[in-house]
Amino acid sequence: MSNKIYLCAINNIQSGTCNEDCKFCTQSVKHKANIQRYRSKSIDEILKEAQLAYQHKAIGYCLVTAGAGLDDKKVEFVSQVAYTIKKAIPQLSLIACNGIASIEQLKELKKAGIEHYNHNLETSKEFYHNICTTHSWDDRFQTCLNIKSVGLNLCSGGIFGMGESIDDRKSLINSLVELDPMSVPINFFHPNKALPLPYETLDIAVAFDIIKNLRSAMPKTMLMVAGGREITFQKQQYDIFKYGANSIVIGDYLTTSGNLASLDIQNILDRGYTIATNCKI
Ligand code: SF4
Repeated sequence: MSNKIYLCAINNIQSGTCNEDCKFCTQSVKHKANIQRYRSKSIDEILKEAQLAYQHKAIGYCLVTAGAGLDDKKVEFVSQVAYTIKKAIPQLSLIACNGIASIEQLKELKKAGIEHYNHNLETSKEFYHNICTTHSWDDRFQTCLNIKSVGLNLCSGGIFGMGESIDDRKSLINSLVELDPMSVPINFFHPNKALPLPYETLDIAVAFDIIKNLRSAMPKTMLMVAGGREITFQKQQYDIFKYGANSIVIGDYLTTSGNLASLDIQNILDRGYTIATNCKI
């Protein structure tokens, strides 16, 4: 494995207006979490934020919308955003993360310049009903298959630390191996008093072990530590690379703040890694 670290940034372009009941998610209206909620950002604002991420060496830029999945209006909006960003910054790889999606909807996004689609399995098939009751794990798996079938790169991973067992983690990893995504976002649960899950983060040794297990199951896949990095690993957050991660999200997450991108970059370079300049593994 090379010493390249891949940086990705995410933009919550429609926030906090979701009727699903995912227990880990502050964007579900059912949990009444105190977050910023808005229908959609302006395309100009999104473009400025994408330009800033690109200046901070992000090679992937993810356009996220809250909600169970795509509809015609959302396809049109994400497509307009993608087209505008791609025209201004052709080097930036665009990822869409808009929930459950059909083959036709994914084809439309691809035409507009989207190259990757993120749809996490979140947790094991067996544990999923404890986390969400408004849609099924099978719906999620099918969307992942749809993504691959239209020739988009699949980004799919999950969230750890929601009360799942060791067997659930193994089962999730097996499902991810079956899907063979290009990149696997690894999130660690970020506790929030409004959410119906215990207010605790995963033990740091367990979290490192999860990264190690994912790496040994998927030796060539991009492993991206995303939400929960700072709160779970704290001062040891850059040790994630020793355990097999080779990508992180820079800047803010969907509803929580992240490190300054410049701090992450400095820490990566100080440890002898280089920053990737394109998505090729
Ligand atoms: S579907 Fe997505 S936005 Fe909605 S509650 Fe679940 S994770 Fe959050």
